[in-house]
Amino acid sequence: MEGKVKQPPVPVSKLAVLAGATIRSGPLPMDLSGFLVRREKSIILGVNSLHSRQRQRFTVAHEIGHLLLHPDNDHLDRGISFYFRDDRSSQAEVREEIEANQFAADLLMPKSMIDAFVVKHVDLMDDQVLAALASTFEVSTQALTFRLTNLGVAQNLAQRPPLRRKLRSIP
Ligand SMILES: [Zn+2]
Repeated sequence: MEGKVKQPPVPVSKLAVLAGATIRSGPLPMDLSGFLVRREKSIILGVNSLHSRQRQRFTVAHEIGHLLLHPDNDHLDRGISFYFRDDRSSQAEVREEIEANQFAADLLMPKSMIDAFVVKHVDLMDDQVLAALASTFEVSTQALTFRLTNLGVAQNLAQRPPLRRKLRSIP
């Protein structure tokens, strides 16, 4: 699906429609990110219009993941978390949420596009660089940070030995 998209930001809403969904954007309770409901003749992808644009884009991408990967169930997504330490969720649910998040990260921040913008490493402590990159991809800095870490292109300033030495030498 991402084959024809060459430049960020990836047009997730268009891709959702191409995947067969009808997008319904509207105000939902704040703890609700979105949902995917399959009807006989249509697939409704709901997204909370009260959330930030970046968050809505991630929600749409996450629901496309459910649409393509998990054909059997409808999905109601409360605050989509990157970590999933929710004891209420069954193992199968947790697995599906992780898969949908992974799909969303791949869709919004394809490795090839990240590679085109990131020469070697991104310094996670450099707020300006992170903000610029997040704005290019129209994702939250949180989602971007998580993605860069997973791709192994993130570098935490505190872990850089030369700087640690420098800091130690400051009286
Ligand atoms: Zn989900």
